[in-house]
Amino acid sequence: MPSILERPALVLNRSWQPVQVTSVQKALVLLARDAARVVDPESFQLYNWDDWAVRPASKDEPAIRGVMLRLRAPEIVSLSRYERTPDIRIAFSKRSVFRRDRLTCQYCGRQPGREELTLDHVLPKSKGGATSWENCVSACGACNRRKADRTPEQAGMRLRRSPSRPTWKPLSNHRGSLASWAPFLGAARAPLAMVS
Ligand SMILES: [Zn+2]
Repeated sequence: MPSILERPALVLNRSWQPVQVTSVQKALVLLARDAARVVDPESFQLYNWDDWAVRPASKDEPAIRGVMLRLRAPEIVSLSRYERTPDIRIAFSKRSVFRRDRLTCQYCGRQPGREELTLDHVLPKSKGGATSWENCVSACGACNRRKADRTPEQAGMRLRRSPSRPTWKPLSNHRGSLASWAPFLGAARAPLAMVS
């Protein structure tokens, strides 16, 4: 079972439109930084960190237990500032590239499993290729060995799609939707992201 800190939390912008799905942990970071307020799913009342911290969790509510406090896990937060996305952008890593590519080799389309998947620099590092969302793709071991230190063109291989920073993912694809989000999701205009 995922920990409470990994549970999903809905992020609303100042106009209370949903913009992202994040984790409880990141929602609490936004709260602690005063970048967001917790939205009470029933009263729609807003709480800053201090107000939220003094509201004890009831017994059946998911809560984070610390030495000093027992904090309720927020399900919805609304951003205090206007930025559409605070700095909870998806960080570049091999793991997040694999996730973006759905564990699929971007050359042959196979899904060899996480252990056999490698990170391929489309323009090889030796030719100045950057380690970036735009220049890195998931490749199976066989394709990576075949491509070697060449560009896809030189190797006669084709990318299934050109790599980019992960795009917003529609919330409807997100299985972890909570009942308390329903009043806000009707107003969703922009697609949402699952940030993990
Ligand atoms: Zn492959």
